[in-house]
Amino acid sequence: MNALLKKESEEVSSLFELISTQSTAYLSELHERQTTQSQVPLLRTKLDQSGVGTLGALTQFNERFESLMVGSSGPRYWGFVTGGTTPAAIAGDWLSTVYDQNPQGLQGQGDVSANVEIEAVQLLLDLFHLPPDFFGGFVTGATMSNFTCLAVARQWVGKQLGIDIAKQGVAKGIKVVTATPHSSSIKSLALLGIGSSNVVKINIEVGNREAIDVVALEHYLQKNPTEPVILISSAGTVNTVDFDDFKAIAKLKEKYSFWWHIDAAFGGFAACSSHHQHLVEGWEHADSITIDCHKWFNVPYESAVFFVKQKHSLLQVETFQNSNAPYLGNPLENFNYLNFLPENSRRLKALSVWFSLIAYGQEGIRSIVDDNINHAVQFGKGIERSLDFELLAPVRLNTVCFTLRKETNPDEVTVFLKTLNATGKVFMTPTLYKDRKGIRAAFVNWRTTTDDVNLVLGLMNEVINQLRNGH
Ligand SMILES: *Cc1c(COP(=O)(O)O)cnc(C)c1O
Repeated sequence: MNALLKKESEEVSSLFELISTQSTAYLSELHERQTTQSQVPLLRTKLDQSGVGTLGALTQFNERFESLMVGSSGPRYWGFVTGGTTPAAIAGDWLSTVYDQNPQGLQGQGDVSANVEIEAVQLLLDLFHLPPDFFGGFVTGATMSNFTCLAVARQWVGKQLGIDIAKQGVAKGIKVVTATPHSSSIKSLALLGIGSSNVVKINIEVGNREAIDVVALEHYLQKNPTEPVILISSAGTVNTVDFDDFKAIAKLKEKYSFWWHIDAAFGGFAACSSHHQHLVEGWEHADSITIDCHKWFNVPYESAVFFVKQKHSLLQVETFQNSNAPYLGNPLENFNYLNFLPENSRRLKALSVWFSLIAYGQEGIRSIVDDNINHAVQFGKGIERSLDFELLAPVRLNTVCFTLRKETNPDEVTVFLKTLNATGKVFMTPTLYKDRKGIRAAFVNWRTTTDDVNLVLGLMNEVINQLRNGH
């Protein structure tokens, strides 16, 4: 054994203590950490012959990179849809690294950590009030979850056309219909060889909406009775968190044949809120659903789950079957995760989710969701009251999409957002909504408080006064 590694294996306890002390210090000042950083470090290209040990690496990380780390898991990082990490999530994530398992089969394959993953999936289904006839697993993000679900959808389309696409390649004439898809779904279609240009945009509901017009959707299905169709529904569009009408789509599913996928990356958490669960009513009839865990579930990055109806398990195995491990018998018996999702080897990301579920229960998770919805409402009211800002869309869940009132020049929005973010006290991201430049604030962090919302509203007033009146 290398002498350095031998020495470190004996000092592991003091090394971990140092890491733990630094972690605690980071988390306890997280609310004050800057939300943006403009410095760019010089990057090395040559690796030293001898290493400096973990302590040396820590010193170098602290000297070169630590100060560049922004408070992206802190309470006022409202850009994109960015969650944080709860204590239980960090504990689970740390232990999944320490135990370093590779969740595959449930028994008889050495590593049986897949049981933790299956349990986490079952508990998530319960949390979301979804029926147990979905099969689920963990992938790195909602992009990969969309990819996984749409890959099974592609196999289903092939079946309708009499082709085994996983074996024979992509069929011509696949059509995908959608209204306001996330860019990652379009990316997935490209990866899947379905081709992003085969997406047919269906009209959205009239008014200040982003949801699909169900009448227009039915019209499309009626006019194309022989064409196998994949519908990608939104459970929370990114700009205004609009939801397609799932009850109406479930009715269509009784009349027409199509694969129904729901991208519920963060909007699915509406199911946890008693006042908002109506937004996802009917989603249990979907064929597949995407949920991100590293957003509103507040676990570290690289965690999302897919749910695919168990009645499609054979299609799923046809899609992801590892060719070295030919599948025999009922796919849900003699089970192995590597036949159900893109990766073969994976870390036990489910453990972080499992820790959070067990640690905080239905109530804990519901309160994160409800608190964040209240923050969005509070922030939205502040915008409505202001003479300088206006909402671009109603606050439907946890995101506020707004712009400057009476802006004479759209660049003013850009300058305002840049100046605001440069304070380092908050971070929001730009958007374009119905041809107007806007700004999004997404509330998905368990640390956010009403004080944070007030602080930012005050800060926004200062910044806009400075820009518009010079004081
Ligand atoms: C964030 C998001 C995605 C992509 O998720 P990643 O975890 O970044 O891969 C997909 N769909 C929606 C609706 C999202 O909000």
